[in-house]
Parts: sequence; structure tokens; C-alpha cells
Amino acid sequence: MLFPTGHRGAATPAPVVPSTGRLTPLGLDQVRITGGPWARRQEVNATATLAHIEHWLEREGWLGNFDLAVSGGLAEKRRGREFSDSEVYKLLEAMAWELGRRPDEDLQSRFDAIVLRVSAAQEPDGYLGTRFGRPGQQPRYTDLEWGHELYCQGHLFQAAAARARTGRADDLLVDVARRSADHVCATFGADGSQGICGHSEVEVGLAELGRALGEPRYLAQAALFVERHGHGVLADIEFGRSYYQDVVPVRQSEVLHGHAVRANYLAAGAVDVAVETGDTELLDAVAGQWARAQARRTYVTGGQGSHHQDEAFGDDWVLPPDRAYSETCASVGSVMVSWRLLLARGGVEYADAIERALTNVVATSPAHDGQSFFYANTLHQRVPAEHVDTDVVSKRAEASLRAPWFEVSCCPPNVARTFASLAAYVATVDDGGVQLHQYAPAEIRAELPSGERVELDVVTDYPADGRVEVRVVAAPAGDWTLTLRVPAWSASARVRVDGGPVREVGPGLVAVPGPRTGGAVVLDIDAAPRFVVPDPHIDAVRGCVAVQRGPEVLCLESVDLEAVGLGAGAGGGAGRGVDDVVVDTSVPPWEVDGTVYVRAGVLGAGAGAGDSNGAGWPYTAADDVAPRPRPELHDVPLVAYHDWANRGPATMRVWLPTL
Ligand SMILES: [Zn+2]
Repeated sequence: MLFPTGHRGAATPAPVVPSTGRLTPLGLDQVRITGGPWARRQEVNATATLAHIEHWLEREGWLGNFDLAVSGGLAEKRRGREFSDSEVYKLLEAMAWELGRRPDEDLQSRFDAIVLRVSAAQEPDGYLGTRFGRPGQQPRYTDLEWGHELYCQGHLFQAAAARARTGRADDLLVDVARRSADHVCATFGADGSQGICGHSEVEVGLAELGRALGEPRYLAQAALFVERHGHGVLADIEFGRSYYQDVVPVRQSEVLHGHAVRANYLAAGAVDVAVETGDTELLDAVAGQWARAQARRTYVTGGQGSHHQDEAFGDDWVLPPDRAYSETCASVGSVMVSWRLLLARGGVEYADAIERALTNVVATSPAHDGQSFFYANTLHQRVPAEHVDTDVVSKRAEASLRAPWFEVSCCPPNVARTFASLAAYVATVDDGGVQLHQYAPAEIRAELPSGERVELDVVTDYPADGRVEVRVVAAPAGDWTLTLRVPAWSASARVRVDGGPVREVGPGLVAVPGPRTGGAVVLDIDAAPRFVVPDPHIDAVRGCVAVQRGPEVLCLESVDLEAVGLGAGAGGGAGRGVDDVVVDTSVPPWEVDGTVYVRAGVLGAGAGAGDSNGAGWPYTAADDVAPRPRPELHDVPLVAYHDWANRGPATMRVWLPTL
């Protein structure tokens, strides 16, 4: 059944509002992040990133394409790639969430001005797109493999859902999206074209717009698109049809595969369809794909996609750190899937995955000033990256420092919309009480499904400190339960309710009786730095360790190695640095004033096989390998991976070979 009675899609200002499921999401009007690193990210996003993106969309002509659709000349003068419209819609979504979070007259008028330009380009039958169908352009929907027409409209739908849910269901953007969605349903419905889009997104967009507007036709259309995948609907291409998930039907697939962003967006749409239609077989299938992708196809950072050529998942265990593609958008997509599964099922593993991807990939992309971005997120930079001109579009997604804009600029607005709606991922409610999934200083002013009010203040220095105090500002009248996440990365944790006895708790969900008004629950998570070892199947990093402190994966950057006298040139070989580092794991990582150190050295010349110094042959008969001289060891500082490359070009690695 689609949208059973009790439909709540329009009322909650949050990105995902299923009409049923294990947990109920809270909106931006119910949860506010009040401090800490996430609040800083939100502030930079609001005050710098949104305007930065708007500037580049204007400068590159991607906004102007909508004007050309009206004035004519689109065929000759259109600028940008075939999917450039989608970046405008993602900016609108980010602006809509930001306006929902904090009204702002200037932002409101900028938002309205863009919507006017977009709406003017809509054709009478509802079609919206600047790349196809006008005089002199290729006809509509004649390149479903690469044209991205439905993909772009899917992002329009998500933007409109954000607007409708933040109290503006009467907005012009919502009207535009409704007409576009009606057009898509009329064109691709059961009796229409049986096509799908080569880049999934329209599925999740239609589902969310349908929820937001209470329109079951949009969800039914999303279901059609999901079910059509896997039947060879699209043409075979150089990467194979698995690139766009068109080899195996979604409900029969065993693991996320193909292009990592496409795979995650499709999975997100499939969860939406499964939840709304009560299709447990489909939900189980996606949950299984998610689990195997996490277990065998995900980097320690939460990043996904090891293929550069097709931006795709590798086979199981193919996770080379120096060839990690790990596109920022793939992690935004993985957060979308994990969050939907969390709402549907309530499993702690989903919130763990969200924390990992947000902390170590999504937060890695933008520079501190929010005006340049990583597209790909390697785990091992062997050669210092190139300097990037802050005034030039980057032609490549990789091998540079953070760039202000890309020819394919999907990642910056994806980060922006995620940050603007971040508060929605902090907590949920159910009949029994409140669940805290992500830790940040926050105010929660929520209503339980029973209609009872609960008000909580979260006080914490997380992730710098593992203590999280939940103060009850207003408790519900009856008994209630507070559920806390003890992250899988923690060695131990203790919980204390209202000054009562301290209880040791393991990783997982910890449910405690909710205190009365004025009471508090304190959770102490051991966030001390630890070595992490990889599954031996991941050959590329066998014999290495990573260091994780709380949710943050750390890395070694050459600037820090040089500062302790172990930089390039140390140990007798040119180009030495992070590639030659070895860590003494007999000494656990330790922390001094917020900086984590390891005991490490750099292998010298003549270290045996693999030490060619650029000359000779790097392979040696096993019998002839000389014992490696033990290097001099130093205390070497690490930095959070999300902070790397903020000090100029450097080499870097996450996985560290052991002594
Ligand atoms: Zn991207």
C-alpha cells in the first residue's frame, strides 16, 4: 500500500520522511546543532559555500543556460556538461535546507531569483532540461545512457521536497517540480517508454517528492524505475551495463556494484520504494547489498569506489589505498542509503557507517574556508599534489589539492546540501522514546509519536572528548527510554543515569530509562587513539596499520615527517618520506594536547627487496634479501584525515607499514 493513513511526509523538515518504519525522523525544527565541528561546518556552509557555488554556477554559465532556454540560442551557446542543471537544483536544495534551518532574507531572495530563472525554462508539458529537445538540440530522451535528463529532474524533485517540507509547499519550485514529475510519469509510466536513466537519482527524487506532497503516483513511478533496472534496458557500453546497475535486477543483486554514486542513489530509491510498498524482499535485498559492500568494498574512511576509470566499486577486497577513488558523492550517497536503512530497521551499524562516512569523507572534501573541494579522496598520496589556482576550473577529479570548481562539479553542492540538513541525522524517536545516533552539542525539542513532548540538551566536546551528557530539559509524562549509540570503534564505554551506578557497556545500542525533567544521562566513550588492522583479504594494505581516534581516521602527512627530520632525503634516498615510513606497533599511539603520535622511522638505503631508489630491479630472490636495518625511531605526529592537505602540497598516507 502506498502512503497509508498517517502520512507524515509534508510535516517534517527532513530529507527522508518515510510513512512507516522502525524509527521516526526529526526535522530541522526539532534538532539544532549548537556547537562543535559540525556547527562550524554548517556555519561555513551557510556563510561561504552557498555563495561560492552560486558564483561558479553563474560564472560557468550553468545558470545562464536556463535564460538561454527562454531567449533562444541554447543549441549554440549552452555551456557545461549534460548534467549541469543538476548542480543548480542541488544548490537550491542546500539553500532550502539552510532557509529551513535559519531564515535569511538575502538568501531567500537569491533562492527566489534562481527559481524564477529555472521555472521560466520549463516547457508547457512540464519537461525541464537545457541539454535536449530545443531547436537544434538532440531530441529528448534519445540518450538515456549518458544524457542525465531524468537524473537532473530527480535532483529538482529532492530540492522541491526540501522546500515543501520547510513550510513552503506553495513555493514556485514545488509547482515546477510537480509539473516535471507529472511529465516524467506521463512519459515513463507503465504504458509509456520503458526506459531508465543511466544515472540513478530520479527514483529517490520521485519517492521523496511523492512523500512530501502525498502523491502516490510519484512513488509508483519510482518503483517502476527501480524494477526496470537489471534487464538490459540500456545499451552495453565500454564499462559494461553493470556501470549503471542494469545487469542484475535490484532485488536479486547481492552487493552494491558498478558506478559507486549511481549504485548508492539507486539503493536509496529502492529502500524508499520497499518501505512505502511493504516490500520486505526488496528491503532485505538492499540491506544485504549494503552489508556486503560495507564488509568488503569500503575503505577504512567509509569511502567507496576504487576504480578510477569508471568511478566504480572494485570486486570484493579490491581496496588499494593509493588508487582509492572514493568520490565525495559516493559517500553522500552511502549516507543516504544508511540513513534510510536506519529509519527502516533501527540497526546501530547504519549510524556507525554514517558517522564514518561523514567524518572521514564528506568532511574531508571541503577546505576549512568551504571554497575548495576534493572530488576523489585518495588514502595514499605518493607525489605532492599540484597547486590549484583558486580562479580556475579543475579539469580533473584527482591529483590536485582541493579545487574551487570542476568541469564535473557534482561534489561541492552535494556537500552543501548534506551539511545544511545535517541536524536531521542526529536523533530519531519511536513510541518508547528518543534515540541519539550522532553526537554533537545539540538541542532536541521533539514530539514523540504519542504526541508527548521531550526536550533534551546534548552537552559534549565530541569527538575531541568521548563524554556525552544528555540533560533532560522536559521529560514526557510517562516512562520513556533514551537509546544511545556506543560506536563500534570504541574499546569500552560507561553509562550513568541520574548520578546512579556506573555501568560498563559494549559497542551497540544502549537503552536506559529516561530521567525525569532536570535529570541527565552521561555516556563516556573511550575515544583514545588505537591501531586498526585490515582484514587479510585486503592484500593492498596487508602488513599495515591505520590509526583511528574516536570516529576520526588519522593520516601521516609529509610536512609532519619533515618537521621531525624524517622528510624527503632522510635515510639516504631521494624522494623518501611517507612511502618509506615504518611504525613500531609495540608502542600504542598516544595523545598529547589533542595531537596523536606514533613511534615511527624511515627505512634507509639498502633495505632489501623493494628498495630500488629508482634504479635497478625492484624484485630480489628471496634468499638474497638483506635484513632491513632498524631505523632510528621518532615520535611522529598524525593529523585527522579530514584535515589533510590544508598546509600546501604534501604526500600522505593512512595505512602505515609496520616495523
Ligand atoms: Zn561528485
